[in-house]
Amino acid sequence: MHHFHDRPGPPGLELWCEEVPLSRIADAVGTPVYVYASATLAHHYAVFVRAFAPRDVSVAYAVKANSSLAVLATLARLGAGADTVSEGEIRRALAAGVPASRIVFSGVGKTDAELAFALDAGVSEINLESELELHRLAAIAADKGVRATVALRVNPDVGAGGHAKITTGSDENKFGVSASEVERLYARACALPQFDVAGLACHIGSQITEFAPLRAAFAAMRTLVERLRAGGLPVRRLDLGGGLGVPYGDAPPPPTPADYARAVLDTVGDLEVELAFEPGRLIVANAGVLLSRVIQVHTRPSGRRFLVLDAAMNDLLRPALYDAHHAIRPVRTPEPGAVERPYDVVGPVCETGDTFARDRRLPDLAAGDLVALMTAGAYGASMSSEYNSRPLVPEVLVKGADYAVTRPRPSYEEMLGRERRAPWLG
Ligand SMILES: *Cc1c(COP(=O)(O)O)cnc(C)c1O
Repeated sequence: MHHFHDRPGPPGLELWCEEVPLSRIADAVGTPVYVYASATLAHHYAVFVRAFAPRDVSVAYAVKANSSLAVLATLARLGAGADTVSEGEIRRALAAGVPASRIVFSGVGKTDAELAFALDAGVSEINLESELELHRLAAIAADKGVRATVALRVNPDVGAGGHAKITTGSDENKFGVSASEVERLYARACALPQFDVAGLACHIGSQITEFAPLRAAFAAMRTLVERLRAGGLPVRRLDLGGGLGVPYGDAPPPPTPADYARAVLDTVGDLEVELAFEPGRLIVANAGVLLSRVIQVHTRPSGRRFLVLDAAMNDLLRPALYDAHHAIRPVRTPEPGAVERPYDVVGPVCETGDTFARDRRLPDLAAGDLVALMTAGAYGASMSSEYNSRPLVPEVLVKGADYAVTRPRPSYEEMLGRERRAPWLG
């Protein structure tokens, strides 16, 4: 469910975000530009939380999916916490108004400086991913004379996720402590005066569209909790990560949040633990589109038709990185029965990987027409870069009939002004 809909209005039916025509934003801000719907953010957050009712769960939104301060502030006002993976993300979450008491710090390679920063900031939980990290954090906490609330991130050895590059829960991956080491390390952590050990965490992958691996992971976590408790170790919190997939329009739809909640409650619902989650994509993916203008349409002698957009892989990396599918819609609604033809939809970057779609059927489009790459709110702007010295893609947040540019496009002067010449270059 999202808030991008066709609406009538001059010059005819076209795509709007909430109460704002996308063409108005394109004219005012220029393209390419990300546009986010506040109503969709609020809707997805509410649907996720409500799926567990009447049970209270804590939801720490995974900042890396979309780290826009405006998006974070929107979610913070709804009560969301933040799951962070770097000092920069902790700083962002705090700047957006997420209280430290709702910030979780995860990640496989936290530096000593980042761990120290997280302790100083007073984050609610640090998820430990290895024995070495456990000892590093204990030493830093001892040094500061503070107690760290920690959880152990377990790798339940269940592979899942829409692509090999986003599978995190198998023993082949770099993430988390193996199930066989959990009891020893948990007991170790509990024995250290520098730690308040809250419980266990896991996160098995992203864009998960099947139930079986989720259930298998939750069941494995249940077994571990029971084993720890049988050994006399307290477990009060179980963080089941994020990872639930969203429909991108190319495959059968993933489980709904209600199905997901049922799988959680069926497997661990009776454990008497505080349940915590870290959804990212589920909250923001459908809340955003990448709005782009057609630069030109050209046809090769072979007959292959290319739609060249002003958006590129540096603005939306997912198709190049994960072979990801994004629905592509003309902003001006085509006439009913309009002929569709296959296009390769590409950007201007000098890489063959700069291809958003191959053989995508689209109505006839011409230079200057607007298109929207749908479901681009997650891992879109947050992965964008200035490759090819293209200005960092701007972001716009819509709320009802209002919109605001929440990250302006940098000028070329700003881009070049961030760099310094080496002194010997004069
Ligand atoms: C990326 C990540 C998430 C969020 O994953 P989604 O697929 O966006 O829901 C949650 N937890 C951790 C530890 C992550 O690294």
